[in-house]
Amino acid sequence: MKKITEDLVKKFYKLLVQCRVCPRECGVHRLDGEIGSCGAGSEVKVSSFHQHFGEEPPLVGRHGSGTIFFTHCNLHCVFCQNHEISQLGIGTETSLDKLAQMMLRLQELGCHNINFVTPTPWVPQIVAALAIAQKQGLDIPIVYNCGGYESIETLRLLDGIIDIYMPDIKYAYNKHARKYSAVGNYWDVVRPALQEMHRQVGDLVVDKGIARRGLLIRHLVLPNGLAGSKECFEFISRDLSKNTTVNVMAQYYPTFKASEYPDINRRITTREYREALEELQRAGLESGFRQTIDTLFRTIVPEWTDDLKDEVET
Ligand code: SF4
Repeated sequence: MKKITEDLVKKFYKLLVQCRVCPRECGVHRLDGEIGSCGAGSEVKVSSFHQHFGEEPPLVGRHGSGTIFFTHCNLHCVFCQNHEISQLGIGTETSLDKLAQMMLRLQELGCHNINFVTPTPWVPQIVAALAIAQKQGLDIPIVYNCGGYESIETLRLLDGIIDIYMPDIKYAYNKHARKYSAVGNYWDVVRPALQEMHRQVGDLVVDKGIARRGLLIRHLVLPNGLAGSKECFEFISRDLSKNTTVNVMAQYYPTFKASEYPDINRRITTREYREALEELQRAGLESGFRQTIDTLFRTIVPEWTDDLKDEVET
């Protein structure tokens, strides 16, 4: 992580004045207590922080990913599995110093990285806390774990601070993003955002089983082809890199408001998942993770693909 100066923190805080931290560009004065579309205000809100062993293996290693879950989100997915946190605002207002101490504590516990979950609305506050933690010895990789709906201006400011970008690519069709996540230009925004992330950090670098730097993309397969898996994979292969690490996720289930939308009111079938994997292969993307579905018990078991089977660091 590059040295975070006071000047740099000020540049981030300017984004909060007429808020343009994310592409929604609400224009509200966050520092003056105004609230925009995401629900985030001035003081950063955290729902939990802990060693997390459920993330992708190269993030988890032996000692876990040091995960900090932030409250609120700039996407409003009707099927969000964390809707209490992302949309109902469960969490606690936290001082910058306390946030920095959380990061240092996770490092002390041996975590292989600091993994910011849903950081997008809080980027300025997170960077300010990182500056404090950095002065006190934080030096493990920083993971930016987001929904992919990111502002290029904010991402450019993050250049040199983030080691591992872990965005979703949720939809290849704006109309589906509008209907299910309340953003009408997701596909237009996510592609340049992912290109900028890849420009900064490149393909995922895994050393002794631990991710050190790079881009890891998550794609959640939706029922009835609504995620546009084929188009997403073609974009990644053509415009990012054939070596991009992609986690194709099968764990969709209807929750929150999904029952109001017949097309997404069920799990995906084994066939739909297999078809997505075939599209991944056709696009020439071979680095990543796939999951096997036990159709009898409906459990999902993560499985390594060959190129990521490095021995996990002990
Ligand atoms: S971070 Fe929140 S308030 Fe700021 S532009 Fe995005 S949605 Fe609006």
